[in-house]
Amino acid sequence: MNRSENNPNDFPARYQESDSGRRIFVLLLLVLCISFGGYYLIFRFATQSIDNQARAEMKSRVEVALDIESRRLGDLLTEYAFWDVAHKNLIQQPDPQWADENIGTYMADNLSIALSIAVRGDNSEAIAFRDGKQATGVLADLRRAGLDKLVPVIRTDTSRPDPQNAFIELDGQLMLLAVDTFTPEFERSPAADGAYLLIARSIDAEYIATIGELYKIPNLRFAGGAAIDPALSHTLQDLEAKSRLTLAWDERSPAKNTSHRIALPLTATFLLMVVISGWIIRMDIGRRQQQEQMLRELATHDPLTGIYNRRQFFRLAHRELGRTNREKIAMSLLILDLDHFKQVNDHYGHVAGDQLLINTAKVLFEGLREFDVIARYGGEEFVILLPNTDLKQAQEIAERLRVLVEQSVLLFRKVSLQVTVSIGITTYRYKEEPRELLARADHALYAAKSAGRNQCHVAGSHGPD
Ligand code: GH3
Ligand code: MG
Ligand code: MG
Repeated sequence: MNRSENNPNDFPARYQESDSGRRIFVLLLLVLCISFGGYYLIFRFATQSIDNQARAEMKSRVEVALDIESRRLGDLLTEYAFWDVAHKNLIQQPDPQWADENIGTYMADNLSIALSIAVRGDNSEAIAFRDGKQATGVLADLRRAGLDKLVPVIRTDTSRPDPQNAFIELDGQLMLLAVDTFTPEFERSPAADGAYLLIARSIDAEYIATIGELYKIPNLRFAGGAAIDPALSHTLQDLEAKSRLTLAWDERSPAKNTSHRIALPLTATFLLMVVISGWIIRMDIGRRQQQEQMLRELATHDPLTGIYNRRQFFRLAHRELGRTNREKIAMSLLILDLDHFKQVNDHYGHVAGDQLLINTAKVLFEGLREFDVIARYGGEEFVILLPNTDLKQAQEIAERLRVLVEQSVLLFRKVSLQVTVSIGITTYRYKEEPRELLARADHALYAAKSAGRNQCHVAGSHGPD
């Protein structure tokens, strides 16, 4: 029972614990944020390097795919160039029918070979097929496009293990070609006459799409004129070392594409951690505040009646005295002692006495103004500090309280309990000590008792009584 918000008490709102709780929470939040930031950076770095690696791997896959395609074309060519019958029917005694059946229609229809030419040692065209049909003048076009760069290599380099490959442009169409000298079967050196065979296939959209599918390169296509990331494109160089055609493909970002699956649970976990830690700290703050409140209550209040205890009374009295001195205002004090209280205990028991004490404290408390301070001074004695109150007002208050107590009836176990109170009244003298004030009020109380009880007595204004 107190009016802590209005009474001149000294309950500082000391929430140091809750402040530190808040600090811990902020610190925890900071640590969580920093670690989350750290995780995020590591995560980003990891996903970026995975994706960079995937990009580099895809680029080299395109190069490898083109290399394999070149080799496959070279292998096909080798089958014919290493065949003595082919040398005979294409160079020594050209047989157009044989040529058509073996390197003409057959190759065009079954192996997508767009160009096949047998060339004599003197660099003249023995026989040529274009799209399965016999053609003339193709060799001249190819030589203009740079074919002669390859020919000396195949003719002179006897250690050459493979046919030569190149991209070459013919009538605006880029082609992949393979060229090799005829080589007698079971030998590794070129035929003495220097004759060679050339086959080529068109690098068209269909072929590029097939390569994309075969080598799992997403959306491999001609780049067209659009600006293309060099990491996602590859330019085919022809024999003239001019960029002829650029291939492009779609980016495959395995980490980026799957990162949301990791980022989402990670963020959710982080938020959950913040919420849970906030909740735990909040609970802890609440519990500490409760404990603190309980300890404060215990330290300052009388456990039986709920009003201030004696120690708290002195603390508040000192403060109030200081203010009274500073502001030179009046202040009065009442000491109250219940009359014949021992008899209440004797007649009705200690429990009844306790209840009557509680009830009397309540009656007194409720009869006071908000800024008055009431405390349990001893067993059945109360003390009341009346700030900003002169003696006359104090007398009126004391009388009102006396009557209130007298009229109050407590029904306890079907028994009506009543008690009266004697009150000693005094008013504060400038700069005196609280104990002097109390001693004077006590004398007045003694006088009230002596005068027959249930009455108020004012201490003399010039002496102790
Ligand atoms: P009077 O003051 O009128 O002279 O008579 P009194 O009987 O009240 O005498 P006194 O003040 O000397 O005695 C106080 C009694 O109050 C003694 C004790 O039995 C009782 N008392 C003190 N504290 C408590 C308490 O906490 N509970 C109960 N039930 N009784 C208390
Ligand atoms: Mg008494
Ligand atoms: Mg007493």
